[in-house]
Amino acid sequence: MSGVIRTVNPATGEPIATYDGWDADRVETAVARAHAASRAWALVPVTERAALAGRLARTLREHKEHLATLAVAEMGKPVGEAEGEVEKSAVTAEYYARQGPGILADEHVEVEGARAWVAYEPAGLVLAVMPWNFPVWQVMRFAVPSLVAGNGVLLKHASNVTGSALALRDLFVEAGFPEHLVTALVVADADVPEVTARIVEDDRVAAVTLTGSNRAGAAVGAAAGRAAKKSVLELGGSDAFVVLDDADVEAAAAAAVRARFANSGQSCVCAKRFVVGAPVADAFTEAFVAGVEKLRVGDPRARDTQVGPLARDDLRAALRRQVEESVAAGARLLTGGEPLPGEGYFYRPTVLADTGPGMPAFDEETFGPLAALTVARDDEDAVRLANATAYGLGLSVWTGDPGRGVALARRVTSGAAFVNAVVASDPRLPFGGTKRSGHGRELATAGIREFTNIRTYWVG
Ligand code: NDP
Repeated sequence: MSGVIRTVNPATGEPIATYDGWDADRVETAVARAHAASRAWALVPVTERAALAGRLARTLREHKEHLATLAVAEMGKPVGEAEGEVEKSAVTAEYYARQGPGILADEHVEVEGARAWVAYEPAGLVLAVMPWNFPVWQVMRFAVPSLVAGNGVLLKHASNVTGSALALRDLFVEAGFPEHLVTALVVADADVPEVTARIVEDDRVAAVTLTGSNRAGAAVGAAAGRAAKKSVLELGGSDAFVVLDDADVEAAAAAAVRARFANSGQSCVCAKRFVVGAPVADAFTEAFVAGVEKLRVGDPRARDTQVGPLARDDLRAALRRQVEESVAAGARLLTGGEPLPGEGYFYRPTVLADTGPGMPAFDEETFGPLAALTVARDDEDAVRLANATAYGLGLSVWTGDPGRGVALARRVTSGAAFVNAVVASDPRLPFGGTKRSGHGRELATAGIREFTNIRTYWVG
């Protein structure tokens, strides 16, 4: 094993840096050190662990510009969104600094003739396989609660954001976390399946979390299953954005543009399929397409850019295939539908109408600036179409009657339902999927407890 990782700026196609992948000995040394650090950390009182999360929030803000610049260079998101991601990570660190000790406190239970309680004790060392789409946030939303819970973190970040991974590792040390408690593993592409499987099986590793594709999730989940270990899988989504016939169409269309094109369309909770009630379909489509055509696509370093390039050329090629096959299967192209000429991995913001089951734009996760529109006859049909996916991450319903929206949401399977709001994660609320979108939860109380030993005490 070993080999080389080359990072590339997706806005220009220019190389950024080269990293030597670690060989087996270096990985072994890192796991041994991380294991020792996590055992010592588990003995640190939770109030001290939480206080360090507070320091991490300050350190994140001090390095906001640097982290944002790295993310923009490595994966191409617009700079304002990159800064927002760092700020959201800091807010989450503050949330767990404040709430962590209370959430992890012992819970006493009334039993006859004894004292009994439930304790939330550290799970141990956790492997985190993370994606590139939010290079800072994806790591922080797992690592902060896990560290406050008393665990160590082995981070296998996506190879195209290796610079961000190493910067984050340094940040934890600067904030005061012990050396080796958070380790960024540098693993060359060809070695990733073997090295991650071996780490999952290692007795010194307690559990694994992965955010990414179904393919990677299935590989890591299978390794965890073989080793009888806990896994949290946050996989893709093909969220429906349902517009009912009594919705404020202008407001829904404006929100739909934000919901689909945030992060240049590369987010698991981006709305991907737009299911619109027949009476408002024409008005919504017109307003939505007008909004999409106004999006400013370009240099992600420019403050007024709203959509940057896709993060890699192969991801752009995959999106292009999804559009072309959907059009061949009967979808109608309303705008976009092609790469931007010139350097970088840009793709025009695209809207397809008349989509449905059997088309990649409807059946697969689309990870880029592509919206798929479908008309629903009535609420019953909207429920059917919203559920007609292998995924089940988020759902957004737009209506003049919130009760009707909640009633519809109850009949659609997803990990989150938002009525008259765009689906988004929030540290105060659990986040995660159903069906092929994965299992387990991140954030809030549920997220910090995922990687604890929920331990029963009975003292007679
Ligand atoms: P991957 O799932 O391949 O990458 C996510 C992480 O998993 C990376 O760290 C990657 O490492 C790692 N990984 C890949 N294969 C394995 C494996 N066999 N065993 C262990 N770890 C593995 O996603 P891609 O970047 O290739 O994106 C493909 C598609 O996945 C996207 O188009 C999108 O549909 C979906 N996706 C969903 C995300 C989400 O937020 N839910 C985020 C990213 C992608 P390495 O980078 O070194 O290959």
